Amino acid sequence: MSEDARGLGAPKGTRDILPPESWGWQDVLRLAMDTFAAAGYAPIETPAFEHTEVFERGVGATSEVVGKQMYTFRDRGNRSLTLRPEGTAPVMRAVLEHNLHRGPLPVKLSYAGPMFRQERPQKGRYRQFFQVGIEAIGSDDPRVDAEIIEVGSRFYRAAGVETRLLLNSIGHLDPSCRQGYVKLLVGYLEDNESSLAPEDRERIQTNPLRTFDSKEATTKTVMEEAPLISDHLCSACRGHFEAVTGLLAEVGVPFTLEPRLVRGLDYYTRTAFEWVASGLGSQDAVGGGGRYDGLSESLGGPPLPGIGIAPGLDRIMLARSAAVAPRSPVQVYVVAVGEAAKPASFGLATSLRAAGVGTELDLMGRSIKGQMKDAARSGARWAAILGDDEISSGTVMLKDLDSGEQETMPVEQLRSRVGS
Ligand code: AMP
Repeated sequence: MSEDARGLGAPKGTRDILPPESWGWQDVLRLAMDTFAAAGYAPIETPAFEHTEVFERGVGATSEVVGKQMYTFRDRGNRSLTLRPEGTAPVMRAVLEHNLHRGPLPVKLSYAGPMFRQERPQKGRYRQFFQVGIEAIGSDDPRVDAEIIEVGSRFYRAAGVETRLLLNSIGHLDPSCRQGYVKLLVGYLEDNESSLAPEDRERIQTNPLRTFDSKEATTKTVMEEAPLISDHLCSACRGHFEAVTGLLAEVGVPFTLEPRLVRGLDYYTRTAFEWVASGLGSQDAVGGGGRYDGLSESLGGPPLPGIGIAPGLDRIMLARSAAVAPRSPVQVYVVAVGEAAKPASFGLATSLRAAGVGTELDLMGRSIKGQMKDAARSGARWAAILGDDEISSGTVMLKDLDSGEQETMPVEQLRSRVGS
């Protein structure tokens, strides 16, 4: 590597996921996609970048993500493009573009991939982070909300992450519901403007709900007395929310009502939620989601209610790292004793792999002792030892690396022995 290249590191806020952590990362990713698939969510892949408008119109220009955090650039054709900061608006764009909503509803999709936001990096907060997610588009039935939330909670449990589910309804955009409430909130914030932190004063007109998310002590004190959306929902939204919480209780998904929970993206309506884990410090949300009944229309589509979740893999890995040891996919390590055994050991490793048995072998010309050490490093349960005697008699010596027991057997028996 050149001197220059050695001086380069990954860009600020990005990181490499290295072995052995990367094994656990893959396990959790697979678990997520399997859990989603088992509930009927089909995978979709969308581009890592979109026309900037998709996010401006979808996520909302007043949101912090669009206003301050997007990686937006002009390509050589002078188009404004943006690295996706989230997955929902792109999925809705794809649904509308390909008319998936004209088929059976709801359209149920899952995705996984990197997202990009230019945030101030800290533990659990990166500029490139990885989300998995599901979206159910085309139904406003409360059972869809309950299904999405139940599937998410089950995924965290299976991944070994203890979470608390915070749940709220933020109503829908209607004078009888959130619009009326927001007027009330703005009035309250204006009355208390002098007690708000300066940066929160700006939000009164642009994004008043977000004052509930302020980390500033003075604002927090003001917000303790603020009117709550939960007390001002229209009867349809209240009924919807009661149905969702009733269904969750029925299937035993624990939740905490959190009337001050608002979410960062402008498209949310009605059910909004977040899963938080302990031990992560200030960045404790391991996933969130909510309903977005107006998103399709913001992107030029027909009325098409939807709801989704987006668990964040980086924080999930932080929350589970101590608890779960990554599994090793290697079962057998083939040890070659002497020069002549090298090609034979390569042949044996190849045939074991072809039979679906995870296998490694020495590729560095190590001594027998060195190979046994490397076998331990590989995580293999067995060492299959081949020397001149074994080759001439068509046998192999199998050593159980846990118990230390060893036995010699015909090569043909090896596969069934280690496969068990
Ligand atoms: P959001 O799309 O903002 O609702 O975020 C959903 C989840 O993605 C959060 O609960 C986090 O787990 C994760 N997440 C969001 N932003 C970041 C980030 N900058 N770094 C790491 N994880 C993130």
